[in-house]
Amino acid sequence: MNQTHSEVLPSEVSHSNLSDYEQAAARFSWEEVESHFTWYDTGKVNMAYEAIDRHVAEGRGDKVALLYSDANREESVTFAQMKEQSDKFGNVLRKYGIGKGDRVFIFMPRGPELYAALLGILKVGAVVGPLFEAFMETAVKDRLEDSGAIALITTPVLLPRVKREELPLLKHLFLVGEDVPTGEGLMDYHEEMSMASPELDIEWLDREDGLIMHYTSGSTGKPKGVYHVQNAMIQHYYTGKVVLDLREDDVYWCTADPGWVTGTSYGIFAPWLNGVTNVIRGGRFSPQDWYSTLAKYKVTVWYSAPTAFRMLMGAGSDMIDQHDLSSLRHVLSVGEPLNPEVVRWGHKAYGQRIHDTWWMTETGGQLICNYPGMAIKPGSMGRPIPGVKAAILDDQGVEVAPYTMGNLAIQSPWPSMMRQIWNNPAKYEEYFRISGWYVSGDSAYMDEDGYFWFQGRIDDVINSSGERIGPFEVESKLVEHPAVAEAGVIGKPDATRGEIIKAFISLREGYEASQELKDDIYRFVKEGLSAHAAPREIEFKDKLPKTRSGKIMRRVLKAWELDLPTGDLSTIED
Ligand code: ATP
Ligand code: MG
Repeated sequence: MNQTHSEVLPSEVSHSNLSDYEQAAARFSWEEVESHFTWYDTGKVNMAYEAIDRHVAEGRGDKVALLYSDANREESVTFAQMKEQSDKFGNVLRKYGIGKGDRVFIFMPRGPELYAALLGILKVGAVVGPLFEAFMETAVKDRLEDSGAIALITTPVLLPRVKREELPLLKHLFLVGEDVPTGEGLMDYHEEMSMASPELDIEWLDREDGLIMHYTSGSTGKPKGVYHVQNAMIQHYYTGKVVLDLREDDVYWCTADPGWVTGTSYGIFAPWLNGVTNVIRGGRFSPQDWYSTLAKYKVTVWYSAPTAFRMLMGAGSDMIDQHDLSSLRHVLSVGEPLNPEVVRWGHKAYGQRIHDTWWMTETGGQLICNYPGMAIKPGSMGRPIPGVKAAILDDQGVEVAPYTMGNLAIQSPWPSMMRQIWNNPAKYEEYFRISGWYVSGDSAYMDEDGYFWFQGRIDDVINSSGERIGPFEVESKLVEHPAVAEAGVIGKPDATRGEIIKAFISLREGYEASQELKDDIYRFVKEGLSAHAAPREIEFKDKLPKTRSGKIMRRVLKAWELDLPTGDLSTIED
């Protein structure tokens, strides 16, 4: 790999340049960030206190914490009301003997109750495990079993998906909704709440006590139970300030469901630690609905994902013209690589630079980012945030030269780093196989300015005619073609070339699959990128297989192609 990147969207802040970054990084100390939290004075802490109660104690109780809406419901909840609701739910849990260290899971659609319950769980010192509402029986069972959960918050509608007879540890189910069935261990959430006291003695915790468990997205294999501790709040608070750029009067919208780490670290913790108003929109994605949400609540900071931006791009500019999006100040993306084409489009369509951010369930918080005050190179995930050091290492742990593809690694530790893979210490150790480093499993290279460029998952890197090719670069070129909506690229074994590139493509509205189109797409990549990176095989699909968090599942494409077992499909979209 040897290329330079001349395309840059300049910083919006005129005083800013690379040396400013260097200065900020040199001045930076996590200790200074830590001084914000309770433990600095008392030695003890609780995430729910720092995120909610503290704002009430400091006189901001009447400020709106949550602006919730879906097709049937619209509600706003102040910090004082959220404190009261979560205090009550804490008391409900205590009544059943649930407390510190217990795993308590949530399996329900978004709604104010989900957020109050999650905070109530944290207030009694339990470890919360949010599950995406669309999970089916086996996915739910696997996660509850693996985590040893003793309680679950769910709804009467979802209850049939919980195989209680196979989950002996799961004793308490709190049901949110109408027509709550009765039975052993089944409690009516609203009834319990109406009887609960609004005064709670919060459980004060140590920094290394448990906070949350998230199962990973399942893009590369069976989801792993990633365990995080209270200490992560340092990173959530700090990145909320410097990456999300949250300011007191912001109206912030993170589109992720709390079943995925983005929906908690940045859909709950970062905004509320920073005391801003948090927009939550329930229901499924639709361009019309999302633009209305942005306009209606005058959202200022918006955090979403490449899959959504690609679909919004496909929805066209007429729809943008019909909505007043002038409140937007800062737009960010996470979850998959953000194609340069999408960055360019965002700049044109919204007048906004979409800021790509890179991190993982395991990292608990953002690590490599494009943040305000920084020039953006479309296609780059940015630079390590101050306080974080990243490098590209070879398999022996030696740093490689700029532009050389290798293992993306982060110097460990950082505040929000995972502390366990639940029930799987051997898997945990694998991430730390190079002494002093966390090895991400992603492949990337660094350029001469210290910007990082994602190439693909290590296992997805393609070796064709002796060249190593990252699938992302090919996919990004493919989506520049006017006919291509989305593309997933894999290596297919080939007798002469080692591997050839096979592309699975979904077409944009108005385009028909044909041999001419395949030839045209092949030529387009060959001329735009290189001959060895051009897909010698192309297959058109109505839809690409994706995780419920919107990521293209290349392992499924590969399994289809090579007639291999598809593995764990618990997180795949319908
Ligand atoms: P699993 O670990 O179960 O296979 P997953 O890795 O998709 O699933 P997550 O923790 O949700 O689970 O996602 C983290 C991964 O998402 C990263 O390792 C990276 O491959 C990808 N990713 C996240 N953000 C970005 C980004 N900004 N650019 C490129 N890739 C990204
Ligand atoms: Mg992963």
